[in-house]
Amino acid sequence: MKKNEKIEKVKNVKIAEAVCADKDCHKHGNLKARGRIFEGKVIRKFHKRIVIEFERMIYVRKYERYAKSRTKLHARLPVCMEKEINLGDLIKIQECRPLSKIIHFVVIKKIKNAEDVKWARNYLIEC
Ligand SMILES: [Zn+2]
Repeated sequence: MKKNEKIEKVKNVKIAEAVCADKDCHKHGNLKARGRIFEGKVIRKFHKRIVIEFERMIYVRKYERYAKSRTKLHARLPVCMEKEINLGDLIKIQECRPLSKIIHFVVIKKIKNAEDVKWARNYLIEC
């Protein structure tokens, strides 16, 4: 009996954490995530919004070589994920309808912690 009670308590806690009243949450609200998916590191964190950055290679025709280019994207951070995601984390975002002038992506999941990503620390010191 005691074991069952414990399990029930754990389940209740999980449910309480998972549900949020944010209507712009792809899990609990009515925001639909569709379209392109990008991965990147978190470089800024605001209330309900984060900025991620990632590198990509662009072909330069004149020199017949590739150049590195950094892309910054703003993404909506649902209230239920606000504590989970911190600066330097590697996360995945997916395109959604435009939520504001600069936000048309939503955070879908966290891939790695900042401590697990070696470059994150060096990068944050550089800035
Ligand atoms: Zn939520």
